[in-house]
Amino acid sequence: MIEIIPIPAFEDNYIWLIRNASFAAAVDPGDADPVMEYLQQHNLRLTAILITHHHGDHCGGAEELRRIYDCPVYGPRLEKIQATTQTVAENDIVSLPGLDTAFHVIDVPGHTRGHVAYYGIHSLFCGDTLFACGCGRLFEGTPEQMQASLAKLAALPDETRVFCAHEYTLANIRFARIADPGNITLQEREIRERQTRAQGLPTLPSTIALEKNTNPFLRWDNSHLIAAASQFAGRPLHSPASIFAAIRQWKDKLD
Ligand code: ZN
Ligand code: FE
Repeated sequence: MIEIIPIPAFEDNYIWLIRNASFAAAVDPGDADPVMEYLQQHNLRLTAILITHHHGDHCGGAEELRRIYDCPVYGPRLEKIQATTQTVAENDIVSLPGLDTAFHVIDVPGHTRGHVAYYGIHSLFCGDTLFACGCGRLFEGTPEQMQASLAKLAALPDETRVFCAHEYTLANIRFARIADPGNITLQEREIRERQTRAQGLPTLPSTIALEKNTNPFLRWDNSHLIAAASQFAGRPLHSPASIFAAIRQWKDKLD
């Protein structure tokens, strides 16, 4: 049986470990130490590393883990990541040795130029592209690219579990409530997620259904969000990319 375990790292990162009784694969190991500690404690062998993008908090521990476990490191084709042994891009399939499972690669440029996501076993590993009630900042890509990337993720099945790389949920909800104040599902979510955090638990994984209903960065079709984005921009907005861009700028201004 496969389990997906959060390994907290740094301030608010999660390194996700896909494991069964004997083997494991790590997604975005920014730090090797907590991963090694978990593997040793549970007597697991690391058989693959998946990297979503080149930022240090996502790939900083990959080289050390690769040296110790001699496993393949999958990383985006468009980004220079020293640890990568196999580059991947849209439509590639990555199979995880010992875990009897495979993931589809989805190109999701926006946060960075070559950012990829991994989708399989009803689970999405989306790095810094989609967050619970939020999305990554646009460091290298355009709003058009990011909106198209998010649209691809939103098109995955509703029940898809969303494994984001950071615990940003409560801060994101604070902004979501400003942008989408009438959203009851969002208000209910805030109550739930506050309780979860108060118990010291991760708010992740989320689901695609929940994000479509509560994440302002996926709601470019919603009349309330269109009105709010237009008001922020000071002119009527129509295209999904322009609505997304306004909401992203709005949050950047408040952060
Ligand atoms: Zn990042
Ligand atoms: Fe990050």
